[in-house]
Amino acid sequence: RIAPSPTGFLHIGTARTALFCYLFAKKHQGSFVLRIEDTDLERSFLQFEKDILENFKWLGIEWDEGPDIDGKYGPYRQSERLNIYAKYLDKLLKEDNAYYCFCSEEELEAQRQYQMSQGLAPRYSGKCANLDKKTIKKKLAEEKPRVIRFKIPAKKVNFNDLIRGKLEFDTALIGDIIIAKDLNNTLYNFAVAVDDFEMKISHVIRGEDHLSNTPKQILIQEALGFSQPQYAHLPLILGPDRTKLSKRHESVSVSEFKKEGYLPESIINFMAFLGWNPGDEREIYSISSLIKEFSLEKVQKAGAVFNVKKLDFLNGFYIRQKSAEKLTELCIPYLAE
Ligand code: GLU
Repeated sequence: RIAPSPTGFLHIGTARTALFCYLFAKKHQGSFVLRIEDTDLERSFLQFEKDILENFKWLGIEWDEGPDIDGKYGPYRQSERLNIYAKYLDKLLKEDNAYYCFCSEEELEAQRQYQMSQGLAPRYSGKCANLDKKTIKKKLAEEKPRVIRFKIPAKKVNFNDLIRGKLEFDTALIGDIIIAKDLNNTLYNFAVAVDDFEMKISHVIRGEDHLSNTPKQILIQEALGFSQPQYAHLPLILGPDRTKLSKRHESVSVSEFKKEGYLPESIINFMAFLGWNPGDEREIYSISSLIKEFSLEKVQKAGAVFNVKKLDFLNGFYIRQKSAEKLTELCIPYLAE
């Protein structure tokens, strides 16, 4: 599955992740699922969702299940799944794997400052973990500001990443995380764990920036008795200065590349090499040849440097392949503008 948050235009990094998910799914005759992660209502906009869907289609990355297709495991927009999350939140609360926390922002900030002054990593103290039922009931009735926290058990979380191999995380470094603001307002790590299970996701292929979320999601799956998907974390995309590719580095959204005259086949071919390599000299790959050749074993761990010269070279190649008629047709919108 690809699970973009509609908080901005389709980023080249998200498009690369979607491509790898798509290639892997198609190669193994699986389904490729598009899920819109719009739990952050303040930052999510329909305009961005539209841009994401349009540009995936323009690139030729087509999904089998998604918000505009009636799949078996819908709805495919998190904002339409609140009743599903509420059911599982309730279960976690009842089974004492989650609790209401009434600590104020000021209190938490003071705690953070104190821990940092002691050279400790800031984490929640667990103050509200053992409030008695009467106190909780009273505070809830008084509509005191509250969040729901997940109890992180003390243990080591192990999993086998299909790219990075065996990984181990010590939960001593993670405080009890906030999983919801209330029963109707869930946060990322919790919603993802529920959706991946409910949507029968077999493989989670995503950027390395999500690696620290994985142990949290595994612990939530364990508390809810869910099966665990297989994980594969893709290398970061780095700018020419070898820092994480971001808006500081000229174009980063697919629509900008499109505006600049790059063809979808050039972008696909280019993105495939952002972390994957067939291991020989071949450089030209169509999306259908990529489906045949792609494998996670050939995805590297090291960051992938975004080299725009390579993209220009590929675009030149694909432009020269076009007939005069086709090229004219492609040029007209640019000329008109
Ligand atoms: N919604 C997340 C993002 O846009 C992706 C989450 C995931 O793949 O688990 O970064």
